[in-house]
Amino acid sequence: MDHTPRILMACSECYPVAKVGGMADVVGALPKYLVRCGVTPTVVMPRYDLPWFYEHEHELIHEGYLQFPHTVHPFRVIRYAPEVLGFELIAIDLPGLFDRASVYLDSNGEGYRDEPLRNISFQRAILQWWNTDPDRYDLLHCHDHMTGLMPFLMRYAYAYQGLSAKSVFFTIHNALHRGRLSWSVVSLLPHFDTWKSGLLEWDEAIDSLASALRCSDRINTVSPGYLEELPAASQGLEWIFQHESHKMIGLLNGVDYEVWNPSTDKYLAYHKKKSLEQFKKKNKEALIGSFATPGLPLFIFIGRFAHQKGVDVMLRAIHEHLLVRQDANFLILGSGDKDLEYQAQTLARTHSAHVSALVDYNEKLSHIMYAGADFLLMPSRVEPCGLNQMFSMRYGTVPVVHHTGGLKDTVPDITVDGNGISFNSVTTGDIMHAMHRSLELYADQAAMKALRSKISEIDLSWDASAEAYAQEYKSLLSRT
Ligand code: ADP
Repeated sequence: MDHTPRILMACSECYPVAKVGGMADVVGALPKYLVRCGVTPTVVMPRYDLPWFYEHEHELIHEGYLQFPHTVHPFRVIRYAPEVLGFELIAIDLPGLFDRASVYLDSNGEGYRDEPLRNISFQRAILQWWNTDPDRYDLLHCHDHMTGLMPFLMRYAYAYQGLSAKSVFFTIHNALHRGRLSWSVVSLLPHFDTWKSGLLEWDEAIDSLASALRCSDRINTVSPGYLEELPAASQGLEWIFQHESHKMIGLLNGVDYEVWNPSTDKYLAYHKKKSLEQFKKKNKEALIGSFATPGLPLFIFIGRFAHQKGVDVMLRAIHEHLLVRQDANFLILGSGDKDLEYQAQTLARTHSAHVSALVDYNEKLSHIMYAGADFLLMPSRVEPCGLNQMFSMRYGTVPVVHHTGGLKDTVPDITVDGNGISFNSVTTGDIMHAMHRSLELYADQAAMKALRSKISEIDLSWDASAEAYAQEYKSLLSRT
């Protein structure tokens, strides 16, 4: 190859363009670090109705039509030059499908009803456009089920023959979401070799993730710990994970040091200068304001209100704790499941001197919380990597986590000279016990100070993992 590998990364979120969770953090950071590893990345994502897309200079580079059985759907391909984000960004404009302000959920907090049509159209538009000049990119890197049909379609749909020999790399950010589609939507797909339809199916439906696992050349999970768990527990996909294990590796996510830097973070009023303790103190004062009882240790939770995140059990544990001891404050920021939102607000009303629950998505506040808190609670039932614990460590906040997935890799317990407090099961008892241990640690000022300082200096950057991704791409490309 006479040029650096050109990688097309297909995804549904990318920070700072559009963010719902960790995938956006990853896709917004990894390409910047890949550039330093001799790779030329381009990110392709849907164009949502969000200000970022209008506020930055762009050019229209392609217009086309998707052919469906009874209709055609127009699409446009819009380019943002590398000067904007540090890498090229392509936005696929599909009027009527993605020009909405919320990425996945409607105003009731439920997935959009036309999700199958949205996801299929997005994936088809990318492939149709790329197929007009296959040499534009050397390799496709897909992220999660929203792009999970592309590996199959590239190989077996007649319309994209120019792409059939390209390598595909696939990243699993979260295997709980599969992109399962009824076979009744098969007519939305372009014609493909029907002898291969088995590669689309799992458990009597089209399963985007299962298909991607079988049709991609190489796959990674976002932590080694999660990779270990999937062959034993993946809600019916265990056999595929066992069978395809030879293609899989675990590559731990990193932190974007340009964004998450306590000395320069654009969202913080108080930056870290010489003293970490001063940084924590000032940000805690800014954060607590009038909500809490002064002088107490502060626990925070930031995240999606979803069963996966263990919010239900955490809320019960906080309630039980405060019934007995009123020796800590809790600040909860998140949104999602309406029932959990209600439970969090009820907890805050019941213990108003100690708990505040903000049902919101607030990027700025999240930064101030990581900076100002003493402890971060992360009781996830499943955690493919988790970034919150890494952001909090960087800002000197001690993570209190369930021993699972990426939390296992990044937060060994302090009893084994680790980085935080870890508990074995997501139960009220285990979480309460972990909170007691945290409060004991807090009372030992010297130990707390030493741990803060240690975790804030751990190298959590993308450097090592970006190099590993680059090596994986290069090894795939050397085969062709
Ligand atoms: P997941 O991708 O499963 O949601 P991660 O821990 O990998 O979980 O990443 C979550 C990301 O989303 C972090 O950057 C976190 O700070 C951010 N986040 C989640 N909920 C909120 C919220 N309500 N407000 C601000 N940021 C949030």
